Amino acid sequence: MSSILESFDKIKSNIKNLETKRSVNIVAISKTFSMDHIKPLIDIGHDHFGENKVQEALSKWTTIKYDNQKLKLHMVGKLQSNKAKDAYKIFDYIHSLDTQKLVDIFSNCEKDSLKKLKYFIQVNIGNESQKSGLPINEIDGFYNYCTKEKNLNILGLMAIPPNNQNTKKYFEKMSELNKSLGLKELSMGMSSDYEDAIRYDATYVRIGSSIFGSRY
Ligand SMILES: *Cc1c(COP(=O)(O)O)cnc(C)c1O
Repeated sequence: MSSILESFDKIKSNIKNLETKRSVNIVAISKTFSMDHIKPLIDIGHDHFGENKVQEALSKWTTIKYDNQKLKLHMVGKLQSNKAKDAYKIFDYIHSLDTQKLVDIFSNCEKDSLKKLKYFIQVNIGNESQKSGLPINEIDGFYNYCTKEKNLNILGLMAIPPNNQNTKKYFEKMSELNKSLGLKELSMGMSSDYEDAIRYDATYVRIGSSIFGSRY
């Protein structure tokens, strides 16, 4: 397990060396890994973790979150509307908000409760048919719906850019879109490209395999 801490330290120092003005949050994406692998990071005080499945998140995190209220759990995977209520229970951040139906469900959950989540709107920045997220031309309207009509706390935009040599171009476009909405936080960058994402203003990077090792 010491290699997990070493990898995590290495990533932190890589990020520090980029000398960004704003602070960057590392969301440790722990999907498929058991608590044995995750615990060392919790023990050194890391608070932000991410999962991509509601059921897995509930069974892995319910008890430990109850015991450690500082822990923040991020939903980064595609979210079906029939899982949204359960997601609301276990997660603190939703990175994959991309349908009006989800917005309506979360808004209803928040009406009856003190728990407010933080949200990122997912953008299909490469316009890829297999990827979720909203097309660029729908972002403005969707953002207004979330904030003005439904009162959701939208932190920023999120994207998983196409896996090709143009990643930087997509990061740049995301940064422009985020700024055009006046948003302060930006969720982008994974194990292979988080340094570039940060150069283009990412403030939440979602890093899995570079911390925990490869998923089988
Ligand atoms: C799995 C996942 C990550 C982490 O990917 P790595 O390449 O392992 O760092 C980030 N974002 C999303 C949406 C994911 O599903």
